[in-house]
Amino acid sequence: RQYTKDEIHKMAKEENVRFLRLMFTDLFGTIKNVEVPVSQLDKLLDNKLMFDGSSIDGFVRIEESDMYLYPDLSTWMVFPWGNEHGKIARVICEVYTPDGKPFEGDPRNNLIRLLKEMREAGFTDFNIGPEPEFFLFKLDPATGKPTTNLNDKGSYFDLAPMDLGENCRRDIVLELENMGFDVEASHHEVAPGQHEIDFKYADALAAADNIQTFKLVVKTVARKYKLHATFMPKPLDGINGSGMHLNMSLFHDKGNAFYDENNDLQLSQEAYWFLGGLLKHARNFTAICDPLVNSYKRLVPGFEAPVYVAWSASNRSPLIRVPSSRGLSTRLELRSVDPSANPYLAIAAVLEAGLDGIRNKIDPPKSIDRNIYRMNEKERKNNNIIDLPSTLHNALKALETDEVMEKALGSHIYQSFLEAKKLEWASYRQQVTQWERDQYLEQY
Ligand code: ADP
Ligand code: MG
Ligand code: MG
Ligand code: MG
Ligand code: MG
Repeated sequence: RQYTKDEIHKMAKEENVRFLRLMFTDLFGTIKNVEVPVSQLDKLLDNKLMFDGSSIDGFVRIEESDMYLYPDLSTWMVFPWGNEHGKIARVICEVYTPDGKPFEGDPRNNLIRLLKEMREAGFTDFNIGPEPEFFLFKLDPATGKPTTNLNDKGSYFDLAPMDLGENCRRDIVLELENMGFDVEASHHEVAPGQHEIDFKYADALAAADNIQTFKLVVKTVARKYKLHATFMPKPLDGINGSGMHLNMSLFHDKGNAFYDENNDLQLSQEAYWFLGGLLKHARNFTAICDPLVNSYKRLVPGFEAPVYVAWSASNRSPLIRVPSSRGLSTRLELRSVDPSANPYLAIAAVLEAGLDGIRNKIDPPKSIDRNIYRMNEKERKNNNIIDLPSTLHNALKALETDEVMEKALGSHIYQSFLEAKKLEWASYRQQVTQWERDQYLEQY
């Protein structure tokens, strides 16, 4: 809800708010906070609050360092975990330049820009329902640092309550509900120590904000249990990694634009074209949806993560699945995305890919309803099934070829993202790992 300035003042007073936490997200999906005392509230509400943009990686150059934070008043929220010093309210902000323009390097501004284009194309909402997964690891009691020790049953530390992780997850759900989240499901995942919490879909911008808030809540509550919550895509080898499936649908005035009861599979023509666009650009947006070196350790066969570009309405394993619900819940589910993705960028990328499909009437290839993992290379070739990129390096090469993705991110973000991620890859490829020494040291 869009609060008025008066309402904000009133809520700040009533809830004994002492500090304002102004949040925005950098290129890498990290939440940045500028914290000011509540005495600055008027200045904030008048869009006069400034910060030094050059202190943020990949944001701006030194010479353009003065940036302004414009609060989005609909995101005002008082954190439930205040103490005797009063409470902290957060508000998500848009970054503006001194001459009053939205800063192009701000991923949230970029998504706002794309959503405007979507409305011009005749749609009202791009709904996103995320399914974030994460691991809970023990904190080292001596150093307070995260370990990779699981707290689940079977861990050696059997004096701890057996289901510390389950209790922690329950507490996370309660805290989320206190903060207005509509939690639809929460469950233990396939891997030990791994959890999933699903909350109700929302329009793209709110969904991206929710994902960021969600991560903050999960990490904060986990600390109380002396656990570390991580959204790293593949923290341990040999067991499933963490994904963040994105369920998506376009709405127009008459409801869900993906639903057409009279068409094949009850999917509308727009849904098929959107799907066609997603599949066409799938390799190219992988770097945005799976942005870490480590993301590609998840996208391997055998652990429920997608590896090939294909879709199906009857099979759970392909890159894009059409879940069976229809009517308002008609949606496409993209299963490659992982929770290390910057949600503003990932959602922008898939929206632009889908809209490109609609604009250019891109038909999807035929669905693959068999288990792709049981096909051999020749069968995949005959069915025109290509691979997702297998490394960050390959993903960046694909991203570099795609003008539609440049449009999705805007040139500023597109260039900075490629530059930063190439450095990340360059640093990684110089590492010699224990795996290599184990394999080669004696044999050669
Ligand atoms: P799965 O069967 O893949 O485990 P879940 O039930 O865990 O799926 O999650 C489904 C997600 O899809 C929820 O976040 C839900 O709110 C969301 N969803 C439902 N309808 C829509 C829709 N029309 N558009 C986008 N997301 C939707
Ligand atoms: Mg799920
Ligand atoms: Mg489910
Ligand atoms: Mg899951
Ligand atoms: Mg899913």
